[in-house]
Amino acid sequence: MRILLVEDDQPLALGIKAVLNKAGYAVELSHDGFDAEFMGNEETFDLIVLDLGLPSRSGLEVLQHWRESGNETPVLILTARDSWNERVDGLKAGADDYLGKPFHIEELQARLEAVIRRHHGYAENTLSHAGLTLNTDSQQLSTKGSDPVQLKGIEYRLMRLLLLNPDRILSKSEITDHIYEEELQRDSNVVEVYVNKLRQRFGKALIETHRGQGYKLGCIEP
Ligand code: CA
Repeated sequence: MRILLVEDDQPLALGIKAVLNKAGYAVELSHDGFDAEFMGNEETFDLIVLDLGLPSRSGLEVLQHWRESGNETPVLILTARDSWNERVDGLKAGADDYLGKPFHIEELQARLEAVIRRHHGYAENTLSHAGLTLNTDSQQLSTKGSDPVQLKGIEYRLMRLLLLNPDRILSKSEITDHIYEEELQRDSNVVEVYVNKLRQRFGKALIETHRGQGYKLGCIEP
């Protein structure tokens, strides 16, 4: 999952990014409204965290422009504490949730996970398909009848993306868009490396290769 974090308070932005990286999200940063609007339109994100008080263009204006141009990416806004009118304006402009500053990073994480779950239409902290269950809190993958196995970093991001799209072939570029940050996207062979690592751990049938098209979640049930 790839998140755009728009926040002009840079130490705060870096702190949030570190926590979200650990939770398995790729995070791109933007520190100003004009730049954020462009990034939100040009790149693929699973969610945008948008501070409303930004230099060069307010977050509210940015959000209105995205929605007017048909950009439906879920947006969680960060508002000033006690500013009920900012929250109302943000929700009216098409925000999916809000959080007042200052906040606990745990609450931000819980809220953005809830927004993503609602957006994908699943209710629990688990993603299941064809005998596979991924716990998105513990980042453990279970196969029927065996103990949960801990996934790490990119393995987890890749598995979550496949389980969110169980019936679709995902191209290599779509996979890199969702699981890497920009500076790491140079080498598309990295996807192959992680596909192979997961197959070594869970069996070759876990991920199907569709030659020339990409990868799809496999079926490991007998
Ligand atoms: Ca601000």
